[in-house]
Amino acid sequence: MFKKILIANRGEIALRVICACKELGIKTVAIYSEADRNSLPVRFADEAICIGPPQLSLSYLNIPAVISAAEIANVDAIHPGYGLLSENANFAEVCETCNIKFIGPPPEVTRLMGEKEKARAAMKKAGVPILPGSEGVLGSEGEAIEWARTIGFPVIIKASAGGGGRGMRIVRSEEELPALFHAAQSEAAAAFGNGDLYMEKYVEHPRHIEFQILADQYGTVASLGERECSIQRRHQKLLEESPSTQVTPQLREEIGQMLCKTLSEIGYVNAGTIEFLMDSDRKLYFIEMNTRIQVEHPVTEMVTDVDLVKSQILLASGETLENVLQGPIVPRGHAIECRINAEHPEKFTPSAGKITAFNPPGGTGVRIDTAAYAEGVIPPYYDSLIAKLVVRGKDRSEAISRMSRALEMFIVEGIYTTIPLHRKILADPEFRAGHTDTNFIERFFARNAKEKAAD
Ligand code: ADP
Repeated sequence: MFKKILIANRGEIALRVICACKELGIKTVAIYSEADRNSLPVRFADEAICIGPPQLSLSYLNIPAVISAAEIANVDAIHPGYGLLSENANFAEVCETCNIKFIGPPPEVTRLMGEKEKARAAMKKAGVPILPGSEGVLGSEGEAIEWARTIGFPVIIKASAGGGGRGMRIVRSEEELPALFHAAQSEAAAAFGNGDLYMEKYVEHPRHIEFQILADQYGTVASLGERECSIQRRHQKLLEESPSTQVTPQLREEIGQMLCKTLSEIGYVNAGTIEFLMDSDRKLYFIEMNTRIQVEHPVTEMVTDVDLVKSQILLASGETLENVLQGPIVPRGHAIECRINAEHPEKFTPSAGKITAFNPPGGTGVRIDTAAYAEGVIPPYYDSLIAKLVVRGKDRSEAISRMSRALEMFIVEGIYTTIPLHRKILADPEFRAGHTDTNFIERFFARNAKEKAAD
C-alpha cells in the first residue's frame, strides 16, 4: 500500500482526496500556488509545497514543478483529481518514468479516450451505440459540409480534444456551417492548443446520462449505475442526480454489462465515466469517456455507499476489485448535487473575492464538499466551483425537499454564488416533475423572465 500521496490539484477535490488518504492511513502532500497559500488543503495535508505563482501554467499545470515537489517529498503516488493534469497522458508517462504511481488509467487508454473521435470509433467497434457522425477529424470546411449532408441537419461540430463544452457549435443549415466551423476551430485551438474537429448528429432535447465504472488491473470491471446531468448551462453541468428517472433497472443492467465487457477489452483501469445522450425514445448513445474522478462523483457515493476516491487509491495500489467493493453494489434512495459556483447567478460572470460569512447546512443526509471558509478568499485565477452540496433521500421527492431546505440554510456572503439559482431550480414545477433534458435551463430562464415581466 502507498505510504505517501501527492495531490496534484487544489480546492474542494484536493481536500476530498486528503479525506480519503486520512481514512486509509496514508500521508499526504499538498502542492499550492502563491494564491492558495492559506487554503484548507495546505492546512490539512501532512506536508505542503509551494510550486509557483498563481497562473495555472506556472503552477498546477507546470509538470516539472509538480514532479520536483513529488520527488522532494518522496511520494509513492500522485492523485490528479479532475481537470488540470488529470487527463494528460504525458504527465502520467512522466510519473511512470519517475517511478511514481499515477492514480488513473494507463497513459495509452487516456490518450485514446482523450481524442474524442477516436474514442467514438473504439466504442463503435466494441458494439456500443454512437450517434451518426463523421469518421476521423474534419479536414476542411468542404469535408464538414459533405458530412453534414450525409448525416442530415441539425448537426453539432465538436472539438476532438474538447472539454467543458468549449469548441462546440450546433449547425442547423448549410448556410451557417462555414462561419460556425471556423468559430469552433479557433475556440478549440485557443482552449486546447488543438483545433481538430469532428461532427455528430445533433439530438434535440436529449438527457445527459453517464455511467460510473471501477476497474482493477486484472480485467475486472464493475458498473456503479448512472448519474443524470441534464441540468446544464452552456453545455456545463449545474446539477446532477442519481438514479435517472428515465433509466429502468433492465436498461441499467444492460448498459452496465456492455460497458464492463468493453472496458475490460480496452484494458481500462481505475475509475472512469462513460457519458451518453438519451433521445426521446430512451435510446442511449455514447458521446465521450472521462478517464478520471468526476466533479459529480458524490451522488454515486451517496446512493451506493462506495467511496470512489478510496477505491481509486486501492485499485492503483494493485488491489482486486472484489477486495475493494466487498460485495454487490445495491443502490439505495436518490441523491442530488448542486454545484455552487462563485458566479453571478444570472449573468454567470465569475465573482472572486473574500467570503465574509459562510454557513454550510448540515443535518441528516446532507454532505458538503468544499474548501471554502469564512474570511477565506476565492482567487480569480481558477475554476469557479467553490462547493458541492449533496443530499440523499429515500426517494427523489425526499431528496428534493432536503436539498431545498439545505439551500435555504446555505449562507455565503461577500461574493456572488449560484445558490439563489439552485433554490429556484429546486422549486420549479418542471424540475420537480422530472422533465430535465439539456434544454431545461433555457426554458427555465424564459419562464422566469416571463413571470418577472408579468409582475
Ligand atoms: P465536453 O467534453 O465539452 O463536456 P460532451 O461531448 O461531454 O463535451 O458534451 C457536453 C454537452 O453538450 C452534453 O451533455 C450535451 O448537453 C451537449 N451535446 C454534446 N453532443 C451533443 C449532441 N450530439 N446532440 C445534442 N447535444 C449534445
